[in-house]
Amino acid sequence: MHSPKKLIAGNWKMNGTLESNSTLMRAVLEGDLRASICDVAVCVPSVYLSQIHSLIQSANLTTAHLGAQDVSAHEKGAYTGEISVSMLKDVGATYVIVGHSERRQFHHESDQLVAIKAERALKAGLIPIVCVGETQQERESGLTEVTVKRQLAAVIHLIGHCITEIVVAYEPVWAIGTGLTATPEQAQSVHAVLRAQLKAAAGEGAANIRILYGGSMNPSNAKSLLSQSDIDGGLIGGASLKATDFLSIIAAA
Ligand code: PEP
Repeated sequence: MHSPKKLIAGNWKMNGTLESNSTLMRAVLEGDLRASICDVAVCVPSVYLSQIHSLIQSANLTTAHLGAQDVSAHEKGAYTGEISVSMLKDVGATYVIVGHSERRQFHHESDQLVAIKAERALKAGLIPIVCVGETQQERESGLTEVTVKRQLAAVIHLIGHCITEIVVAYEPVWAIGTGLTATPEQAQSVHAVLRAQLKAAAGEGAANIRILYGGSMNPSNAKSLLSQSDIDGGLIGGASLKATDFLSIIAAA
């Protein structure tokens, strides 16, 4: 039996302005977060990390955290345009998403690269949110398990027993931003596969690893997804851009 504290993480993707971020974040922070028993994070575009960090700090909420959406696999130096783990730490990030399907798809990130990023994040004291998930075609070909296990195996292989320090996000690619959602049963069955894989690598400690579901989670489907035994939170794209929707999902956790 496991019961890690749930995590609801928003992924703002490439959206926002100084003004709209401030309105959105203030509305989230003024919501009922004090009463919330889960952790909340917002993963924002890098240029706005400092802005959101200041807003979170001034709200003085221990449950609200800052996250980034990606990080360089390199430590520092001549990598124009890249942002390092130490820079993310420097501006107050706690979490960093690695291996989001949009990075795997549009930036050709391999399982190996994602694993290196996760390792770098951990070594710098950041918590990587490692995304795994199958495409529609992989699901239809019966390759869902093979795909997510392969993606997670690369990370387990590189970071070994430190795997208990990561967050995993199961995000079926066909459900991201499409309005299609995995049913609670479909999601739970993949989460159970991932939990078993984590258990094989980390033993009983795997029970405390948070496995988030992501893919069109919204106020209407959040409760049924979040009540599954191996779903320990959500990674929320579109719905994290509307304070009322994001707060409803937090309330459902
Ligand atoms: C995401 O991008 O991680 C995501 C889950 O997006 P959406 O909620 O919009 O499907």
